[in-house]
Formats: sequence, structure tokens, C-alpha cells
Amino acid sequence: MKLDAPLIKGEVALVGAGPGDASLLTLAAAKLIGDCDVIVYDALVSESVLEMAAVDAELIQAGKRGGRASTSQEDICDRLISLAQQGKRVVRLKGGDPFVFGRGGEEVRALAQKNIPIRIIPGITAGVAAPAMAGIPVTDRSVNASLAFLTGHEVEEKSRMDWQALVKAFPVLVFYMGAKNLHRIAAQLLDAGLAEETPLAIIYAATLPEESVTEATIKQAAAGEVEARSPSIIVIGDVVAERKHWRKDLNL
Ligand code: SAH
Repeated sequence: MKLDAPLIKGEVALVGAGPGDASLLTLAAAKLIGDCDVIVYDALVSESVLEMAAVDAELIQAGKRGGRASTSQEDICDRLISLAQQGKRVVRLKGGDPFVFGRGGEEVRALAQKNIPIRIIPGITAGVAAPAMAGIPVTDRSVNASLAFLTGHEVEEKSRMDWQALVKAFPVLVFYMGAKNLHRIAAQLLDAGLAEETPLAIIYAATLPEESVTEATIKQAAAGEVEARSPSIIVIGDVVAERKHWRKDLNL
């Protein structure tokens, strides 16, 4: 299997763009981004990645951003189908990994239904990359044998989450899309029995120039004392205490 072989006419590659910095792209992603007719990209895809497109490639933004009205998922699928049916070589570029909270599955289903050839190139997901940039291991033998990736997008009073089961089963929780609901997430976890002093880290815009990392306790977050902006990954658990400030030394 040659994942990085040139796309054929009418093929759509669902490509993970990683967390932001272009140096974290896979070799296959870099190759296909540099050799396709059209790139349909999400709002989270960074400038440095888009700069790798061939000069004559058409760039179409189709992303969603924080609930603001934007292209609907159905429109995006229709667009991909129509581009493929025109014989274009299409790269569908998504932040991080296409299948991690990226709705990649829906697009693959829509394309497959029309018998459009597809290729899937995984990317480094933000839930792993952002903690790594901050020097936080998402698993550490002294702390956890499991971890959970969750979306904080729909954390309301009556959420689908079983908070007590979560706290019991997973020593480490990694939230995507949790910035807006941080205090609510923290309050639910406290309620479910998580210790007040459990550390958390908010990693904003990992690998991008505006990156920042904030550390706090779950108690402070539940009290609304901690600010979080989007896009951020929120890591909750004792792995945060294992943080190593590696980039200061390396000047990265
Ligand atoms: N498919 C993506 C996730 C899309 S959901 C992936 O695998 O990474 C969007 C969420 O991803 C954001 O709300 C944020 O929680 C996270 N995210 C994406 N890029 C990020 C970055 N550079 N820094 C911090 N969080 C990021």
C-alpha cells in the first residue's frame, strides 16, 4: 500500500493536518497537500500547512468555528462529491486527525455511497500533540493505565456523560472543545468525586505562535477562576504534575 502515491482523478484523500506546525505533518500528508487540484480545509488548519499547497491548487475553506454559522456538514459532503465527480484530485484537510472529533466518518460514508475512491491519512491529534508540547505525558506508568478523550462541546446540565463512571474509570481526562464549558466540566467532575486538588492544564493553540499553557486545580476551575480560550486541549489528572518544561532548554 502506497499511502503517498499520487492521487488519481476523482479521488478524495481525507488528510490529517496535525495540530498546526507544518513540521508535524506526516510525509504522506505533505506529499498529497503539495500535489492535488483542490484542498478543502477546516478553520483549524494552520497557515504554515496551507503554504505547502502547490501554487495552482484551489483552496476552499469549509470549516466550522465555535458554533458560528458556517458551511453545513451536508454542504461540505456535497461539495466533495461534486469536486470528485468533476475528476479533481481532492485533499480534504482537517486539523489533527480526521477521525478524532473531526466528523471524518460522516464524509467517508457520504463519499463511499457515491462510489468515490477515498484515501485516509491519519494525523497527530491535538489531544496527544498539545500535552506533548507542554511536556505532559498523557500516560505515565506511575499515574495511569488508561485515558479518555472527550468532547466538552455539549456539556450541559443534562449531558450524555456519566461523570461518576468517568472519574472512576479514567485517571486522566483529555478534553477537546472544552474551553467554553471549562467551569461546568470542572464542577461536574468535583461533584462526581474528583479530588479538589487534581491538577489540570489548558494548552491553547499548541505549536502555533500564540501558544500558551495554564495550570490550575480542578477546584479553581470549578470556581470560575481559570480562563480558557478556544482552541485549547484541557488535560485533567496527575500526569500534569509530571510536566517537564523541555522547550525552555531547547529554545523551541
Ligand atoms: N480532529 C482534531 C480535533 C477537532 S475538534 C484533532 O484530532 O486534533 C477541535 C478541537 O481540537 C479544539 O476545540 C481544541 O480542543 C482541539 N485543538 C485542535 N488544534 C489545537 C491546537 N493547536 N491546540 C490546542 N487545541 C487544539
